[in-house]
Amino acid sequence: MFSDIPVDVSPMHEGERIRAANMFVELAGPKSIGAELVQVDDSITDGKFEVIGPELSEMTKGEVYPFGIKIDIKGEKLEKELEGVIERRTHDLCNYVQGFMHLNQRDQIWCRVSTEALDSGFKLLDLAKALGILFKEEFPIIEEISVTILTNEEDVKEFVAGAHDIYAARDERARELSDEDVDVFYGCLMCQSFAPTHMCVVTPDRTALCGAINWFDCRASAKMDPDGSIFEIEKGEVLDDVKGEYSNVNEVIAQKTQGETDKVYLHSVFEYPHTSCGCFEAVAFYIPELDGIGIVDRDFSGETPLGIPFSSMAGQCSGGKQVEGFTGLSLEYMRSPKFLQADGAYERIVWMPNSIKSSLEGFIPDDMFDKIATDEDATSVNDIKEFLKDKDHPILERIANLGTDDDDVDDEYSEDEDLVSQDETMGQEFVPVATAPEMAMPMSGGVKVIFKNAKIYAEKVIIKKSKK
Ligand code: SF4
Repeated sequence: MFSDIPVDVSPMHEGERIRAANMFVELAGPKSIGAELVQVDDSITDGKFEVIGPELSEMTKGEVYPFGIKIDIKGEKLEKELEGVIERRTHDLCNYVQGFMHLNQRDQIWCRVSTEALDSGFKLLDLAKALGILFKEEFPIIEEISVTILTNEEDVKEFVAGAHDIYAARDERARELSDEDVDVFYGCLMCQSFAPTHMCVVTPDRTALCGAINWFDCRASAKMDPDGSIFEIEKGEVLDDVKGEYSNVNEVIAQKTQGETDKVYLHSVFEYPHTSCGCFEAVAFYIPELDGIGIVDRDFSGETPLGIPFSSMAGQCSGGKQVEGFTGLSLEYMRSPKFLQADGAYERIVWMPNSIKSSLEGFIPDDMFDKIATDEDATSVNDIKEFLKDKDHPILERIANLGTDDDDVDDEYSEDEDLVSQDETMGQEFVPVATAPEMAMPMSGGVKVIFKNAKIYAEKVIIKKSKK
């Protein structure tokens, strides 16, 4: 079937990582532009595979190129509503191709081709052909398919702009409904290949955390293949309509995650937040010193107010873990009226990158918009606090209730001995020095002890300057 493709094509290559050392080129990703798009189109020519722009043989090792994957499909039973779900499979199917790595989705894609693949004679045209075969195999309702790979900057720019319009139209449609309007939600297990204890719960108000699948997409997918990885979940009894807790959702989640998670609040980062696989567009994270919540997306390359970048934070709360104080989410969920409603919604949000904030104009309540700090205003906890005071952010009331004065925050990580505070619960003088959603400690005999939601206290903190 793949006889004219010079590399192996099989699910066993999913999970292959192509590091910089054995990378020939990078395609799309944070240093360039790119997108993937599946569309139902009755005018296509079946089996038409092409590359518009430079092929791998015309590229330079180590460089980064723009990249578009345009997939057009046709079939009697194909509905437009299925486009999003079929498109989401591009990630897995690209990764079946040995020597080709695909991350993320929509306009966030980030791909690499290995040097070994190039040496075997692999071309981008082979990727297009492999996708043509794989999509027809995975979705028998696809009767005809054509795949176009774009690598010319101008073409990719135009393609990405068009894709944005289509993503926006899909997202907008999902805003027609809210959680109360439906009796069923949907579960998605597509990411269990790498996050075995993760199940997404997709509701009208909570678009999947990858941002690529909404409630309508799930409905169409479950109708097409009720035994597939996207399936109906009867809501059952509403246990808490503010937190977003439903009896049957809890039951199904326990069943599908081998009991690892048995309770989920759809609209909160506290206690039982929605688990995160690793495909999330953004992470909501609790900032204890401000009793507020920050948001960071995967395009943000700087440090968050927690002192770590998105990549480190994602590593700590992904893989299907339920980590209190953190939850992966889609940017579209931030447009929902139920966005973290149990935590205070936007009145609890204290920081986010400016790029996200500007994309949410009209969705963040007008009276809150200017009160939320961005990376352009501040990134350290102290500076954010000053900003919040200056803007009279409602979080100030919560900060006041924390019982700390300004100096507590200002001195927390200083070298001053005065920072040692009384920890009532332990009855000794201890100071919190770090928190970690998950921390592993190797022990003898091959045993590993894992601390979840660890708070590390020390009697004394000694900061030493290393000798150069
Ligand atoms: S992130 Fe969730 S909805 Fe998106 S593909 Fe993965 S499991 Fe499905």
